[in-house]
Amino acid sequence: MAQTTTVTVRPPAIALADPSVPYPQMTGGEPCQQTDPEEWFPQHGHNPTAVRLCHSCPLLADCRAWALANPQLAAEGIWGGLTRAQRAAIQRNNLRAAA
Ligand code: SF4
Repeated sequence: MAQTTTVTVRPPAIALADPSVPYPQMTGGEPCQQTDPEEWFPQHGHNPTAVRLCHSCPLLADCRAWALANPQLAAEGIWGGLTRAQRAAIQRNNLRAAA
């Protein structure tokens, strides 16, 4: 007797990438480009210094918008002054608001 397998497909927990939001046009002068990348991608937790430096960056708004629109590409680290957990919370709220 042949066995059948049922596969349940769930919707993604996070929004899919949005290519309409362009990657920030970095010039090399941004704080994250002038500092050890490990500061923005720590192994554990987050680096409050990197978050603070993001808030002095002229690309903050563009960087944040891109990271929130492209969660698969910005899954780790600090982008636009937001930690991974902060981005996930915003994305969850956005998905709830859109439902
Ligand atoms: S806002 Fe974006 S581009 Fe600017 S320092 Fe932070 S991560 Fe880098």
